[in-house]
Amino acid sequence: MEEVIKVPKREGGIMSLNPWQEAVTNLEAVAKQIGLDKNLLETIEKPDRVLEFKLMIKRDDGSYSIFDGFRSQHNNACGPYKGGIRFHPRVTKEEVMALSLWMTLKCAVVGVPYGGGKGGVIVDPHKLSLTELEKLSRAYVRAVAPIIGPDKDVPAPDVNTNAQIMAWMVDEYSHLKGELSLATFTGKPIEMGGSQGRTEATGRGGVDVLNSLAKYYNLSPQETTVAIQGFGNVGSWFADFAAQEGYKVVAVSDSRGTIYNSQGLDIEEVIKVKKEKGSVTAATGEKLERDGVLSLNVDVLVPAALEGAINEADAEAVKAKYIIEMANGPTTVEAEEILLKRGVKVIPDVLANAGGVTVSYFEWVQNRQGYYWSKDEVFAKLEKIMAQAFDEMMAKVKGERLTHRQAAYANALTKIAAAVQQRLS
Ligand code: GLU
Repeated sequence: MEEVIKVPKREGGIMSLNPWQEAVTNLEAVAKQIGLDKNLLETIEKPDRVLEFKLMIKRDDGSYSIFDGFRSQHNNACGPYKGGIRFHPRVTKEEVMALSLWMTLKCAVVGVPYGGGKGGVIVDPHKLSLTELEKLSRAYVRAVAPIIGPDKDVPAPDVNTNAQIMAWMVDEYSHLKGELSLATFTGKPIEMGGSQGRTEATGRGGVDVLNSLAKYYNLSPQETTVAIQGFGNVGSWFADFAAQEGYKVVAVSDSRGTIYNSQGLDIEEVIKVKKEKGSVTAATGEKLERDGVLSLNVDVLVPAALEGAINEADAEAVKAKYIIEMANGPTTVEAEEILLKRGVKVIPDVLANAGGVTVSYFEWVQNRQGYYWSKDEVFAKLEKIMAQAFDEMMAKVKGERLTHRQAAYANALTKIAAAVQQRLS
């Protein structure tokens, strides 16, 4: 299960954020910049539908618990709604809506034939037993069953959800439908129709982006230092692949702190220690404050935790030249303004972490074909897609003097707007 990153209440931090407002502010600014018709933007901006429901389960002690659940179906002009389901105590309807909008953009950035969706439940899954977690996962499926399906809406894992939860969900959905429906969920276990490489996909795709960045800006991996905030599924796989490819991963952090070694950490050891002792801080290296990872003197900073992780104050302290957003929405609008003024290049989430949904697409294709690919094939196809999306973004950055986020959004909006126009004319 992915780790819950605990972010304390602080000025301008995650607690004071409205992610939906953040998402819309960014979108509207780019739409204006690229001259997208206001009326057309209106057809894209708001989610098509947001389902809000309550989930009830009987606890192991015989009591009943009620949880709030959501599924936001943002836009399906380019294909079925697609996006994960997160279980987290800080989930809100606005957050789920923002994440669903980013999914629409993300799928268009990498050109996978999906729209965007997202789901969430307000719950701390670490306070549930395994049986209770299964009951909650199945209850979620019963609530959304009428609006999901391989050609309607295809959920997947997100923060605090994983392949086991997808297995319960597919099982519940298949029972309701009276037939096996593998392609309704992605991120499943391999034995149940999952794809090779899906677990690693977000981190793998992120390192493909790092490679493109290195090529483009003439960075040699051996001399490029990397610091990673968050060591859940995404952060740990990113660290693993980056280290394997020769980058110097000098710091990683989790909710308990940061571990640092200016010569580069032994990532294999950090992964082992995290698994055995529950925190990266027990690994060999210098221990720093948790947020210390953000202000280290490195080339590349990789936020791989939750949204709002880099606020205005953090942005002033960032020393990295590049940020690769592996979390969704880690940089606030105000923080990005400061970073850009200071010359920091921010590679946006909608490109950087799109490896996950890209391999989800491969999984869906394999389920529908009943023909499965090797991990090498998956990674080779993924690399091609990530490199192409990066090049398309850079063409806009160079040609139209847009920021990296504006360029990626512009490419996505152009594709989505064309699909909307073709449908409505
Ligand atoms: N939750 C992941 C994301 O935010 C993956 C979504 C998917 O595979 O559908 O991109």
